Amino acid sequence: MIASNMKQSKHIEKAFLFDIDGVLTEPFSRQVNQNVINSITRLLKSGYSVCLFSGRDQSWVEQRVLPRFDSSDSSVFDLFFLSFEYGGVNCMFKNGLLLTTVDKEVIISLEIKNKARDLVRGSQDAFFDEKKKTMATLEMYEASNPEEAAIKSKGVDELYEKAKKLIADRPYLKAYRTTLDVDILHEKASKGKCASDFLNFLNEKGLFPKEFDVFGDSPTDIEAAEELYKRGLAVKFYYLGEREISDVDFEVIRPKGDFYDIAAESILSQIK
Ligand SMILES: [Mg+2]
Repeated sequence: MIASNMKQSKHIEKAFLFDIDGVLTEPFSRQVNQNVINSITRLLKSGYSVCLFSGRDQSWVEQRVLPRFDSSDSSVFDLFFLSFEYGGVNCMFKNGLLLTTVDKEVIISLEIKNKARDLVRGSQDAFFDEKKKTMATLEMYEASNPEEAAIKSKGVDELYEKAKKLIADRPYLKAYRTTLDVDILHEKASKGKCASDFLNFLNEKGLFPKEFDVFGDSPTDIEAAEELYKRGLAVKFYYLGEREISDVDFEVIRPKGDFYDIAAESILSQIK
């Protein structure tokens, strides 16, 4: 116990947040980048706290991402926080077991879910994600190359327009467009909520880091960095995506040349 506390106190001042798609994974094939996972495992082993945040559902990450982490020492996961569905579903580890909390406040109605499902009924290109607990996601099938991804991207635009129309008379809902999907969610759910819930998790453990490195590849990921910045914390936002983002008051680092998981891989290899 003493040894574990000493290990944790080493890097108590700093924490890391990672978006999942396009940071831990190649964005179009959704293949998990093992080198990025190994670097995050190294951060956890060094005693840093780490949050993975995503619009994704928990089961995808449980099946395809978590098994890639070296779990030989379960105490490594004590400072590991996972925030899914834009903060609608949060997970932490206790003695190596994953504990899940669903935030009832951000669950969208069954009626909207059903109408969202109807938007892709019979579609060859897109499907409704049945695993989401608090929101609705219309998702394109995986693309095998960038050309195919570009075509699919147009399909996402069309879905996004339909989703916006669907929620037009419900101001407490919003629609997000990501690389290959469209999300319909409660206005209180956001990547900012993920960051806020992560802070609560840390504070409950008596941890108050002052410095945060946030990694993201889409404009909505900025919300996570913004939330921390608003609270007076030092934030660096590593933007690994290609789409334009608006100006912000905190430091944004855009790697030259590489994007997505490849960029994450090289940045993380330099963090000791
Ligand atoms: Mg992403």
